[in-house]
Amino acid sequence: MDMTAEDIALENKEILSRYRSLLRASHRSRSAQDRKELRKAFDIALDAHKDMRRKTGEPYIYHPIAVAKIVAEEIGLDTISIVCALLHDTVEDTEITLEDVERLFGKKERQIIDGLTKISGVFDQTSSAQAENFRKMLLTLSDDVRVILIKLADRLHNMRTLDSMARDKQLKIASETLFMYAPLAHRLGLYNIKTELEDLSLKYKEPEAFEEITSKLQKTQPVRTRFVNKFMLPIKRELEKDSLDFEIKGRTKSIYSIWNKMQKKHVSFEEIYDVFAIRIIVDTQREKEKAAAWKAYSVVTDFYQPNPDRLRDWISIPKATGYESLHTTVMSPSGKWVEVQIRSKRMDEIAEKGYAAHWKYKGGEEKSVENNLDHWLSQIRDVLESDSENALEFIDNFKLNLFSEEIYIFTPNGDLKTLPKGSTALDFAYYIHSQIGDTCIGAKVNHRLVPLSYELKSGDQVEILTSKKQKPKEDWLKYVITASAKQKIRQALKEEKKETAGMGKEMLERKFKALGVQFDSPNLLEIEKYFDVDSTIELYFQIANGRFDLKKLKGYSVEGGQLVFEKNRPEPSTRNDEPKLATPVPGKHDTLLIGDDKQTMDYTLATCCNPIPGDEVFGFVTVSEGIKIHRTNCPNAEHLMSHFAYRVIRTRWASKEKLRFEVGLRFTGIDDMGLVNSITSIISSNMNVNMKSISFESNDGIFEGQVMVLVHDTTHLSELMEKLRSVEGVLTVDRFDSSANS
Ligand code: MN
Repeated sequence: MDMTAEDIALENKEILSRYRSLLRASHRSRSAQDRKELRKAFDIALDAHKDMRRKTGEPYIYHPIAVAKIVAEEIGLDTISIVCALLHDTVEDTEITLEDVERLFGKKERQIIDGLTKISGVFDQTSSAQAENFRKMLLTLSDDVRVILIKLADRLHNMRTLDSMARDKQLKIASETLFMYAPLAHRLGLYNIKTELEDLSLKYKEPEAFEEITSKLQKTQPVRTRFVNKFMLPIKRELEKDSLDFEIKGRTKSIYSIWNKMQKKHVSFEEIYDVFAIRIIVDTQREKEKAAAWKAYSVVTDFYQPNPDRLRDWISIPKATGYESLHTTVMSPSGKWVEVQIRSKRMDEIAEKGYAAHWKYKGGEEKSVENNLDHWLSQIRDVLESDSENALEFIDNFKLNLFSEEIYIFTPNGDLKTLPKGSTALDFAYYIHSQIGDTCIGAKVNHRLVPLSYELKSGDQVEILTSKKQKPKEDWLKYVITASAKQKIRQALKEEKKETAGMGKEMLERKFKALGVQFDSPNLLEIEKYFDVDSTIELYFQIANGRFDLKKLKGYSVEGGQLVFEKNRPEPSTRNDEPKLATPVPGKHDTLLIGDDKQTMDYTLATCCNPIPGDEVFGFVTVSEGIKIHRTNCPNAEHLMSHFAYRVIRTRWASKEKLRFEVGLRFTGIDDMGLVNSITSIISSNMNVNMKSISFESNDGIFEGQVMVLVHDTTHLSELMEKLRSVEGVLTVDRFDSSANS
């Protein structure tokens, strides 16, 4: 688009007019020195951004001016903050350096711009937010809270101008805003900004609901006004008698909070009785505030019956955010509960603008509230510095339980995904792509290795590990809760079964050929009856996987290419024909021979050493728990055998039945993404071992892992350990006793 000289002149005029409007909003920057600083910052920003435009096509400088205006007018910050807001994108996006900022303005300005630049990834529209970045951002809080306030102003302006973004960006930015920034604004006491961020997020996330609530609020406005006027009439008269300076407002709940309530309580707009509150704001001297508020309370309750359970006195004990107000709920003549909020003008301003407004009311007791902020900030700092796990919990707590049915998950790149609550790592894998789901072998959640069934929490950063050898398993259906993942797993299992069935079909064809029987439907039907299945696919499938053994077909004859079976069918199961060595005890492992007379005895496996078949073991008669089986190299063995020899019973493993035993393995090695991959795939696919749990920790390039696996016996176990040791990068693999560890 070519611009004419006239266009450019018009645009420059507009830029100047916006700058002047910023100056008018900068109440706290009245001195000549302040004005000079602002002008300097404006000139530098204007020049630095001169060739840049926003998505809307507007000059880029509109954005820093708007952010600076929010900082000045809506948050009420000082000159340094306005200067930094004007410059907030220069170091990131232009030639300006931090050194320039320090030279032209000062150390403080440099610090703030540095903070703003470093954490820009969090708020920047083009890159994405990560839990870790968020943590860093909060860490800077205690350096200078202005960094956060300017960033919030930046996000607010970006939300206000979100229309020009593509739909997917809108959704992403709106979700992030709702997830992190609105709660942050809330915690900082910036009520107005929090509300606007929430409403704007809803506008883009749920445009229809937003429109509906907006229009219903508009339509019901006259009714509310009439109601408030009628309700307040006697109170007004009474307060005027006392010559109290006051103001009355009917405060509608925000669009977002109405929507949230409708969602949570499953009610319609019309059913929400407390769509608004009445606010009485008394204007009085500082030391008379409390008395004035209680005076107003007394007048209100003279006319209307209060609900004693709903009285909140945040004047005597302010909230941690610094919020001061007196709330009561009274019964109106029309039989409806109405919330009445009573506060001073100062309290009202602080409630809406937050800490920033305190500067306006410097002096005396203000200190205690400032100290509250300091206290809060140092608490956050402690939590954040202790470890990263807590940072994630912190974000979780931050969310104020909004959207309790949804969780927010970050990809390794920091993209935000929304999943239903209860979703597992496997759900997430399928959510990303069905191919990723099908080949998923595990996941790293916040850099820790977790199994497929791991339930995700909001704020988790999840990296999915895949292996080409992986295939969906029947069990997986139990690991997922989303319908789409279930459907994809079923689909994959079906495909897999079809493939296997193809092999079974070939096997059956060969068998028929050898028998001289035609491969036709009457014969197939006959053999289906023989094995007692009702579908051909199932028949093929069971043949292929060995459940139906064609070699053991019995009691048939062939008459002219036709297969005929006699009536008595064999047992379909052809496994387990090895003679049993011990009589099974229900619910117990039937693989131990205890004592000399080979009789079956009740026993349990000792938890101190967790013996598995193949281990050298002995039985030990305990006083109250029957016979316990220990490994001969159990740490307790020596003591038991030397002191209580008479209670020791000779025991050996008898059968090689495929039972599974839980064993813990501990491994160390050199951290590398591929390594975890190899280990988990050896365990789960190659060796066909079931992983019960796995954890993984990495420290400066060295990882330590623990895995609980189910193995058949010691041979199986040593095979597995050998394989794990052979993986490049693995240093040690050791067996450990799980109980000793827990
Ligand atoms: Mn910006």
